[in-house]
Amino acid sequence: MNADRVLEDLRELARLTGGPDGARRVCWTDEWTKAREFLRSRLAELPVEVSVDEAGNLWAAMEGDGEGFVTVGSHTDSVPAGGWLDGALGVFTAVEALRSQAESGRPPVGLRLVDWADEEGARFGRSLFGSSSCAGTLDPDEVRDLRDRDGERLEDVLARYDVELDRARESGARLRGARAYIEAHIEQGPVLESRGEPAAAVLGTFGVERHVAVFTGETAHAGATPMGMRRDTFMAASQAALAIRDVGFAHEGGVCTVGGATSEPGVVTAVPGRTEMLLDQRHLDPDTLAAMLSEAREACERAASDHGCEVELKHLWSIPPIPFDDRLIGFARQAVQDAGGQDTAIPSGPLHDAAEMARLIPTVMIFSSSSPPVSHTKEEDTPEADLRVAIEAYGRTASGMLELAAAGELPPRE
Ligand SMILES: [Zn+2]
Repeated sequence: MNADRVLEDLRELARLTGGPDGARRVCWTDEWTKAREFLRSRLAELPVEVSVDEAGNLWAAMEGDGEGFVTVGSHTDSVPAGGWLDGALGVFTAVEALRSQAESGRPPVGLRLVDWADEEGARFGRSLFGSSSCAGTLDPDEVRDLRDRDGERLEDVLARYDVELDRARESGARLRGARAYIEAHIEQGPVLESRGEPAAAVLGTFGVERHVAVFTGETAHAGATPMGMRRDTFMAASQAALAIRDVGFAHEGGVCTVGGATSEPGVVTAVPGRTEMLLDQRHLDPDTLAAMLSEAREACERAASDHGCEVELKHLWSIPPIPFDDRLIGFARQAVQDAGGQDTAIPSGPLHDAAEMARLIPTVMIFSSSSPPVSHTKEEDTPEADLRVAIEAYGRTASGMLELAAAGELPPRE
């Protein structure tokens, strides 16, 4: 792997589709098309066949000697005013994997790059459109009528990009012959930076439980109602929020977030009779995640009863933890060490296209550090030295996957 070429491509992409306000490659916009044109210009220099599938995912296929192929990829789209590395790092590291392979000859099995469409869901609010279509987990009816800020429907906008929503899942046929998947990405959080580590293997993506806790009590006059005679839902929610923070601390590796609360009537002269509190919980282990949810529920019930209120937990969305492949994680850990990092593996809090692939084929990711440890903002960055370690570790892991496939392991998907 030649990390210089990856960094050059990333800087060129940032020059073309970024600026002082950050990246602007929102999927299903002209800027995204421009980013893809740049990607195509790089792929045009390689012995690959480029095509776009029914979900708008772009594929570049390099033939190999043996049956099937190893898949490398990520997403070129970004959030508005996003960073230069989120998604782009994985795509142009994958380009380099193809480029360095092409220089050393025909691979032992095929090598295919994929640029997933609309990972971010920035325009319509539905993430992982392309990869979940390909994995068969997207329900077209759930997204058909989603509208952007200007009121345009998802289905209509996609049609302008030659994506027929009801046929998007046919893209799954592209995975026939797929043996494994690898993706590089920035961590987007503070863990590696805080440990002084440049890169890491990724264990899998957190399971997520999202709920809204609805507390009901009684709206009452702020002056006329003595303290001991109130059914104050804001106080109940506050007590619950503090207890839920402790649930997060009690389960190592877990996170609990109360993202916000709104009270009614929401005026300075009234005890709030109704409060809705947003709750997000994540963990890599399904049993622990279930325990965290039930403890949060108990905390809400206790707090409600302490304040003479009732509470109901309404389910918003959930996804189970998606672990990556143990053997590939082992490869990736070794590769990170060989590339100058430490033997380390961390879970991913954010979801990634790799999570959709992990449902179907052996999958692994490599994270570089994020420093400052933020993402989805123009301040997003990673020291060049850390990017180099991640790129090198990725190349070594991908080579290991090709060798494993050549040895008859990682069977092609039917
Ligand atoms: Zn991303």
